[in-house]
Amino acid sequence: MRLMKRKYVQGILFGVLFATAVSCSACGGKRDEAKKSGETVNAKENVVKKKEAVKLVLSEAKSLPDKVKDAEFSSADKKIATVTKNGVVHGVKRGKTTITMKSDKEVIHYQIKVAKHGMVYPKFTMLTGEHLDIQFSTKVKAKNVKWSSTNKKIATINKKGKIVAKKRGNVIIKGNDGKRTYVSKITVKKRPKNIVYLTFDDGPNSYTTPKVLNILKKNHVKATFFELRPASYDFKLTKRVIDEGHTLALHGYKHKYYEIYKSEKVYKGNLDKLRNLFFKKFGVWCTVSRFPGGSSNTVSRYNKGIMTRLTKKLDGWGYHYFDWNVDSEDAGGARNPQQTFHNVTSELCKGRGNVVLMHDFYGNDKTINALDKMIKYGKKHGYVFLPITASTDAVHHGVNN
Ligand code: ZN
Repeated sequence: MRLMKRKYVQGILFGVLFATAVSCSACGGKRDEAKKSGETVNAKENVVKKKEAVKLVLSEAKSLPDKVKDAEFSSADKKIATVTKNGVVHGVKRGKTTITMKSDKEVIHYQIKVAKHGMVYPKFTMLTGEHLDIQFSTKVKAKNVKWSSTNKKIATINKKGKIVAKKRGNVIIKGNDGKRTYVSKITVKKRPKNIVYLTFDDGPNSYTTPKVLNILKKNHVKATFFELRPASYDFKLTKRVIDEGHTLALHGYKHKYYEIYKSEKVYKGNLDKLRNLFFKKFGVWCTVSRFPGGSSNTVSRYNKGIMTRLTKKLDGWGYHYFDWNVDSEDAGGARNPQQTFHNVTSELCKGRGNVVLMHDFYGNDKTINALDKMIKYGKKHGYVFLPITASTDAVHHGVNN
């Protein structure tokens, strides 16, 4: 822990030094050092190639040092960092890449390193009418951020960092805390009228999850997976969930009712632990969650009032919890795929977001063998299938404890 803190402090110092070197063009000391370490000179073309390191956190926007007017900028990997025409870099995903500046005089290669902490929405897609609460990962506690939107007709942001999507289009949300500028590129899409959010709880496992993913892939449908801690050999399934564009969401590190609802602290720990694990492993910051048993559960009654307290506190801890309004009953009443299909399709309603509860626990043939037909039914009847995101309107049950 101590070591991590020191690294972070060094990061800030580095930033300060860098800023000094950039702002003072007459100051040769820093640049000379850089030349000694990284440059090669091509005498023929008189092109100086230097390597400069630039560190960013997620969502941070920083102007490149030593940039020249009318130069051309390009990024080797836009998934990691993008660069504007004016040489401003935006950290999009944890990792390393190179940004190149070409001018008449020289070519500079900037080695870009994006750290895995910062504001966790470098790029985000919202639907009209949705809202999104800006969040920072645990390592950055940005305070007193001044927020602004480049187009308030498309999306607004309030003092607390809550974005509201108004109209279809692209907009840039900026925040400045005095040290850094954070940038979030928001795309607003029109909200379809009839939405189905397919959700799968209790996975991943090697029997059910790949079959579910294959069916979703074949039908070009994105869904939401509320996972438990994967077994070490199942992490590849979680990675597939992310890579194929589904939402990775949190059910909890453990599922045992008699353990996780012991106290608020224990429950929070059960979520934080899984979120931090996924972030460390995949660089994905999960904020969408679902209570084991749902928020309406009565299995937590051994601790009176725990659900009332948890449902009030969860937002403040940086999570958005989702129950469901369509129950496939694949973990209970449904005896075969036909019943799973019937339970879902008979409960779908037009004009709302239908959040469908299903499971990808081991051997769940009741759902595997109903899913393809279910999706085809939905499409035929005018439904659009979407993954739940941090900005999706929540579906909540009434609390019974
Ligand atoms: Zn569950």
